[in-house]
Amino acid sequence: MHPDVAALLAVQDDDVAINQLETRLAELMPRLAVMAKERDKAMAALQQGRQTAESEERRRHEVAERVAQHRALQEKNQTALNSVTSMREATAATAQLETAKRMIDEDERELSAIGLRLVEANRTVEERERVVNELETAQAEARNSLAADQKDLEQQLAKARKAREGKSKAVPRALLSRYDRIRSRKRVHAVFPLRGSSCGHCDTMLPLQRRSIMSGTGATEVCEGCGVMLYATE
Ligand SMILES: [Zn+2]
Repeated sequence: MHPDVAALLAVQDDDVAINQLETRLAELMPRLAVMAKERDKAMAALQQGRQTAESEERRRHEVAERVAQHRALQEKNQTALNSVTSMREATAATAQLETAKRMIDEDERELSAIGLRLVEANRTVEERERVVNELETAQAEARNSLAADQKDLEQQLAKARKAREGKSKAVPRALLSRYDRIRSRKRVHAVFPLRGSSCGHCDTMLPLQRRSIMSGTGATEVCEGCGVMLYATE
């Protein structure tokens, strides 16, 4: 194998390693996004639970105030009943007392129903707070470990890029720039050996004359089938 090709293959090995590190680094970001989404969902559920509890609490307050008003009314009616002077007044005051009592009974039934719903709503809030806290603890750990992974990968990447730069100096400039043009995000491997008389990547046959030049001079050729760079192994 021509030494230029050997030097290029060493660069390609580094490029493959760099590509793998870049891929692993890029994979860390979606994991952060998934965690943020999970947390948003738990927070929204907690917020909704708190709103439910608050609105029950408000309702309880309203009904309790109404009970107080109705009791005051009842007291007034009782006083009125105590000071009636005729049968007609007594009947009217008694009717008002009964009405007030019915209203109070109704309010108290409602109060007790609200009380039950409030207990349930508060229980839901507590449960959701627990979920959010647990999630935050777990995610803090996961984020720390992700940050450590990221730092580690970035260090490895910096080292690999430096090594690649050093090795690329051993490759003739024209050959290196051809290689760089062929290489892309989709094509990490740009250089392949001839396999017999065909491209080692896509099996397209190369004319004998070109193969002879390749073996004779160590020159590289671009495959007409798939566009990769080919070299002769012997
Ligand atoms: Zn090919």
